[in-house]
Amino acid sequence: MQLKFESVDDVCCAVCLEVMYMPVGLKCGHLFCMSCIKQAVGVESSKPLGRAPRQASCPSCRQRGVFAGAVELYELNNLIRRKFTRQWLEQRKQATDDHCAQLGVHRRRRTSGSHYVLSNLYNMPVVN
Ligand SMILES: [Zn+2]
Ligand SMILES: [Zn+2]
Repeated sequence: MQLKFESVDDVCCAVCLEVMYMPVGLKCGHLFCMSCIKQAVGVESSKPLGRAPRQASCPSCRQRGVFAGAVELYELNNLIRRKFTRQWLEQRKQATDDHCAQLGVHRRRRTSGSHYVLSNLYNMPVVN
């Protein structure tokens, strides 16, 4: 299976349901915007995600202890920026406005926010 990047839904964050900005992959394989996942587990934006409390769980699969080994996916961020430039720039703008402060409002807007697991990325085609 490959990332197709055909629609915005393909690179959607399950927390804010928007195009991912600065995606991070948790150890369980779920991807979120860095700012979203930090907000969701109560880690200040200036602190590393590994500071997440021990009882914190992944918003998608509820698995615990998946934050310490989280990986920032710079390449995926670049791909999203190239493919969905307008939405990505909008996300970056909102990130600086602390858009995740309204998490409760956004959260259940859509039930099936699609997101990718890390294993999909291993087959990702190289794009220049
Ligand atoms: Zn997000
Ligand atoms: Zn998960």
